[in-house]
Amino acid sequence: MSSELHDLYQEVILDHNKRPRNFGTLEDADRSAAGHNPLCGDRLTVHLKLDNDGVSEVSFEGSGCAISKASASIMTDAVKGKSRDEIEHLFREFHTLLTGDPSVREKASAELGKLAVFEGVREFPIRVKCATLPWHTLKAALDGRKDAATTE
Ligand code: ZN
Repeated sequence: MSSELHDLYQEVILDHNKRPRNFGTLEDADRSAAGHNPLCGDRLTVHLKLDNDGVSEVSFEGSGCAISKASASIMTDAVKGKSRDEIEHLFREFHTLLTGDPSVREKASAELGKLAVFEGVREFPIRVKCATLPWHTLKAALDGRKDAATTE
């Protein structure tokens, strides 16, 4: 990773950790799901409001490390107003960015916008689960599963 991207990564993580977007409960949420990453101790809950085929409102609450919190913050911004298909596509691309071969990562990175800074997490494999926990939890909420999503 270039030092430029590394600086951006640090900056984005710090910013979203200090001032998380869409943090708190969501009144009249249609769906909520809880997620847990036992490896790090991150716990969060994602709340959703649905309209037709998409997510109209989304928030998260809980406690965890800076990476899980920043990831949840950026994810909620990224999925608001998107359809279920678009969200599943983003999740796949995000997962590819963190775990895929270099050959497929570039395309994923181009499609992810701000989420692409999480490529920095690749350097710390144990943190990949921190970054993906919010996404697993969001998916559980979309699927209507109330039981805790887990990264295990
Ligand atoms: Zn964590």
